[in-house]
Amino acid sequence: MMTVPRRLVAGTGWKMNNDAAATRRYAAELAPRLAGLPTAALDLYVLPPFTSLHAAAEAFAAGPVAIGGQNMHWDDAGAWTGEVSAPMLREAGCRYVALAHSERLAHFGETYEAVRRKINAAFRHGLTPILCLGETAEDRAADRADAVLGGQLETALADQPPERVAEAILAYEPRWAIGAAAAAAPDYVSARHAAIRALVSRRWGAAAGQAVRIVYGGSVDAENGAALVALADVDGLFVGRAAWTAQGFAAIVAIVAQAAMTKGAAP
Ligand code: PEP
Repeated sequence: MMTVPRRLVAGTGWKMNNDAAATRRYAAELAPRLAGLPTAALDLYVLPPFTSLHAAAEAFAAGPVAIGGQNMHWDDAGAWTGEVSAPMLREAGCRYVALAHSERLAHFGETYEAVRRKINAAFRHGLTPILCLGETAEDRAADRADAVLGGQLETALADQPPERVAEAILAYEPRWAIGAAAAAAPDYVSARHAAIRALVSRRWGAAAGQAVRIVYGGSVDAENGAALVALADVDGLFVGRAAWTAQGFAAIVAIVAQAAMTKGAAP
C-alpha cells in the first residue's frame, strides 16, 4: 500500500481556564506569533471552556486555529441538566470535540461505553472526535498498557466503520503523565503509538491504521515536544498547561511545524 504522510496536529485543551476576555487576548497575541509559521500544513485547535466558545469562534475566525469542545453529551437535546450537545457545539463554531479525557474519567465517572455514544453523535453532526486513550500508573506497572488501550479503542469506536476511524484523532495520553512533572519517555511513547496503530489496523484494516492520526499528550512542553513529535507514529501534540498562553502554544506550533517539514507531512 502506498503510504501518504499524515498531516500533523497541534492542539491545546484549556480545561477550566481562559474566560471570554482572556480568550480574545490569547487569539490577538497568537496571530502575530503564528504569522511566520507554515501553519497551512498543520491542523491546529484550541479547546476553550464552553462559555468562551463564542468569543473563541469570533477571535480565531480569521486565522488557522479551529476550536472544539472539551466534552459533550451523546443526545442532541433533552433533560440533561448541565450538559451540552453536538449541535450546540457546532452552532458555537466547533470543528472538534475531545472525548474521554482522563479528568472526565477520573473525576466525573465517565466511561468508554458513554464515549461510544458520544463518538456516534460527534460524527453524526460533523465534529471530529479527539478520542483520548491512556493507561493508569497501575496498568503500566502491571505491564498491561497495550491491552487497556485496545479495550478503550474497541469500546469507543465499536460502531464506526474504517473510514470514520480514519477521520478520528486518537490522543494517546497516559493518565500518569497528565499534569505531571515529566512527559512519558520517547521510547515508551513510540511503543504505545505503534501498538495503537497496529490495533487499529487489525480491527479496522490497514488503510485506517495508516491514515488515523495519533497525537501524544501528557506534560508536553517546549523542551520535550520536539523529541516526541519526531517519533514515527506520533502525528502531533496535545498540550495542556504549556499552551494555556499564546506564547506557549506558538512555541508548540513551531515545533510541530518543524516536524511536519522533516517528516514531509502533506499540506
Ligand atoms: C491534558 O490535560 O490533556 C494534558 C496533556 O495536560 P498537561 O499537558 O498539562 O499534562
